[in-house]
Formats: sequence, C-alpha cells, structure tokens
Amino acid sequence: MQTRRNEISRHPLVIRGYVGGRFTDASPTEEIAVIDPATEQRVATLYESSAEEVDRAVIAARTAFDRGPWGRATVAERQKALLAIHDAILAHAEELAFLETINTGIPLSQTRNVHIPRAAYNFRFFAEYINQAGGEVFTQEPGLMSLVTYEPIGVCALIGPWNMPLGLTAMKIAGALAFGNACVVKPSELTPLTVTRLFEIIEGILPEGVMNLVNGRGPVTGTALVSHPGIDMVSFTGGTVTGSAILASLAKGIKGSAMELGGKSANIVFADADFDQALDAALMSSFMNNGQMCLAGSRIFIERKIADRFIEAFSRRVPALKIGDPIQEGTEIGPMINAAQRERMARYAESGLSEGATLLCGGHRFSGLATGYYFEPTAMLAPSNEVAICREEIFGPFAAIQVFDEEDEVIAKANESDFGLVGYVWTQDLQRSMRAASALRTGTVLVNTPIIRDLRTGFGGYKQSGLGREGAKGSQAMFTEMKTTIIARAPRTLPRMGAGA
Ligand code: NDP
Repeated sequence: MQTRRNEISRHPLVIRGYVGGRFTDASPTEEIAVIDPATEQRVATLYESSAEEVDRAVIAARTAFDRGPWGRATVAERQKALLAIHDAILAHAEELAFLETINTGIPLSQTRNVHIPRAAYNFRFFAEYINQAGGEVFTQEPGLMSLVTYEPIGVCALIGPWNMPLGLTAMKIAGALAFGNACVVKPSELTPLTVTRLFEIIEGILPEGVMNLVNGRGPVTGTALVSHPGIDMVSFTGGTVTGSAILASLAKGIKGSAMELGGKSANIVFADADFDQALDAALMSSFMNNGQMCLAGSRIFIERKIADRFIEAFSRRVPALKIGDPIQEGTEIGPMINAAQRERMARYAESGLSEGATLLCGGHRFSGLATGYYFEPTAMLAPSNEVAICREEIFGPFAAIQVFDEEDEVIAKANESDFGLVGYVWTQDLQRSMRAASALRTGTVLVNTPIIRDLRTGFGGYKQSGLGREGAKGSQAMFTEMKTTIIARAPRTLPRMGAGA
C-alpha cells in the first residue's frame, strides 16, 4: 500500500467530470490539488467542472431520461444494472478502500470493512427493493377506482459530503437509479477519488447520460448544479448552512429536495445500563470515522450514580486510542480531513475551557507524527448543556460529557438542540427505553446499540438535521413523483351543466 501511495504522490491521479458516457477534457478549467491528509501530499489534480460543464451534464441526464432507454427499462433490466454495479464495487473493494483512506484519512480497517461493503450493498438493497415496491389501489367507492403510482422524478442532482464519500453518495445513486431516474453526481472537492473511480469501473453498465459526474467546489460547481433549471430535485448530504443555501436556491424553481444534514446527538447512559457495552459504544460513537460522523453520539449524558466510574474509564481509554497513519493496520484515529478542521478542533477545546468545561484528555494538535492533520481525541466534562461544545456540531474526535440525575431532566436536555438526527439510550429497563424513544425528538433512536443504519428503515433528521428520509420508502418518496389516477368503473351521474332546467 505504501508503494502504491508513493507512486500516486509521484504521479497524482486526474479527476475530471463524466458527461454523456465519457470523461470530459481535463484542460481548460481551474486546477485543484486533492490532498492525502496523512501525508499532506497531492494525490490528485481535480479539474473543476465549470457552469458550462454542469450545463452539459444536466442536458445529458435530461436527454437520457426523456429519450433514452433507461426511463422505459423494466424492473429486471434496472435490477441487472444495479447488481452489476454492486459486483463491480466488490471486485474493486480493496482498491476503493485504499483510495478512500488516502483521501479521507479514515482508517483502512473502517473503509475496508464498513464504507466499501456498504457502498456496494446500497445497490443490492435497492435492486431487491424495487421488485416489491408498489403503489396503492382504493376501491371503496363502487363506481371508482383510485390508483396511486410512483413515477421517476427525472434528473436528480446528488451531492455528497467528504466524511463517507462513496458510501453516502452510493446510497443516493442507487436510490435514484433504482426508481428510473437519471442523475448528476457531485462529490466534495476534498474527496472525489472513489466516486470518480466508481464511474470508471462501471463504464458500459448504464446507457449513456444516465449517470453523470461533475467535480469542483461547492460555491462554483455545486451552485451551478443546484441552480440549474434542468434538474428536478436535489438530494444533499452535508452541513446545515450549505443545506439552507441550497433550499433557498431551489425555492426559486419550486424544486424538491431531500436534506441529510448535521447532528449533535445525545448518548444517554442510565445507571442500570450494561456498563461495558455502554462504554465501548460511547467510544465508538465519538471516535469512529475519526469522529467525523453526522450521527456521532458525542454529547454524552451519564447518570450521576455511575458518573465517576464511567468518566474515569472513558478518560483512560481515549488517550489509549491508536493515532496513526490510516493505511497502517491497527490505526484507530487518523488525521482530520484538512488543516481547517484540525484548527476547528483546537478552537472548540479553547472555547470549552473558556466556558468552564474541564479537559479530561486530549485537546491539542497531535505532535507524534511528522506530517498530517492530526488532533488528539478529546473529552471534556461540560458544566451545562448551554456551552458551545454541547450545542454545535464539532465533527471531529471530540466528546462532551454531562452528568444527570433524573430521566425527565436528561430527556429535556437531549432535546434542547437545534439538531434532531439520532438519540442513543442505554438502559436495561424496557419501559424506560420505550418512554425515552418516544420522547426524543430525533429521526432515529438507538437503544442499547451504537451506530446502525438499516436501509429498510428511513434515516434522516428532525429540526435542522434535515428533510426527508433515506432508505426504502423514504428513498422512494425522494426519487419519485406520486401520481394519482382515478378511473370511473361505471357511467357517473353528472350535473348537466348548460343543458337547461
Ligand atoms: P458541506 O455542507 O460543506 O458540503 C457538502 C457538499 O455540498 C460538498 O460536496 C460541497 O462541495 C457541496 N457544497 C458546498 N456548498 C455548496 C453550494 N452552495 N451549492 C451546492 N453544493 C455545495 O458539508 P461537508 O462536506 O463539510 O460534510 C460535513 C457535514 O455533512 C456535517 O455537517 C455532517 O453532519 C453532514 N453529514 C450529514 C449526514 C446525514 O446523513 N445527515 C451524513 C454525513 C455528513 P465542496 O466540499 O466541494 O465545497
């Protein structure tokens, strides 16, 4: 792997758009360096898609949708294509995991075991789902039959974040294609490697123009895409501020959207919880994916009866996390995505201290490696739920712990948030878990388990965590138009307007 990485740093990859069935010319646009956050070396040169290239991509998708074979493909044909994409990802799994790791800094053990299999699974899941997904028929009125059918929405703009580039973008692509749409995909300009490679490894599977790629910065390529009159909807995963700007732009054309945005998820540990499971899960929910997870459960609430023991154990485990080169086996924490993200971590550690939090461990730039945007995994004991480290999404390996006494108190605090993505609850008391699950204002509640995504269910957020749900029916709602057809089954008695008295 190191040899391959050296080769790439000597000869960086080339990232271009893919429009109407072929990669675009690499020459005339802005060049952006794509960096390996562990080595700070260039791994690719990205040739930014201009507004003109975005326009061509949307037109290619529009043409494929309106006139190409995909819009009329049978379920069996769509399933065949989706399963071929699934197989292509698995056939290139090791390479994709490596690329994801050198682009994001996420440990190889996680990209290899979670991200890439997950990316492939999305295509299999939706291939299977569309065979069963149907509409509704209402026959209660003897003279009428009302049919509800779900039809492809058209051209979908699919915009993904940098923290799980292929896995999260693949979920959008698989959903959009499964329901018969064409799409234009835009990965984050920080992490375009695996999504671009996906386009290479699936060449020939889909009719031309069905899947297009544009690469570039949000304010340039992203804005051109979401403001293009030829798109029918945007499925976006990213930050709340960007999501809000995209919604404002879509409002002009009354376009639909699905928004998977940020989070600040509460992880509530009651005194009767399985202590070891809750501890392991709290570490995982705060530090997996280098802590850069929308569903991180890093706002941790511990019941006072076990607080000393829990905080002591947590504070002993965090500094023992293995920080290192993400391509090395055994690394648990890699670098932050870039220097800005590392500095953001340092700012939150300072803001915690200035607002009265106690530093339990970490809090500084990691100095043990010569290169890379590393930050020590950090835990702070917060004086209240009001401080910035408990309010704002930090998006890094940073846990903020609070102590509570009563169930009502902790549920109220958990809900005191602009976000509402996930709530984690640890208790052996079934009735309490049911009360908490219904009281938490979040799109998902996880009881006695850390992070799980189940595609059969919907994933998304309340409040500023988003709009819409991804997975099975949620994706169907996102990527289809609901159509109602009402058919008279017998002649109807109608007023004879204009026929006289
Ligand atoms: P951003 O919002 O910065 O960017 C997300 C994507 O939007 C990127 O591709 C970005 O491009 C693009 N973009 C930026 N500005 C615009 C614009 N004006 N118009 C169109 N596109 C634009 O998020 P991050 O990439 O920083 O991802 C982290 C965020 O994503 C966190 O808040 C996290 O919680 C959230 N997230 C939510 C998930 C969920 O399922 N709810 C899952 C994972 C992450 P570029 O980067 O090239 O500028």
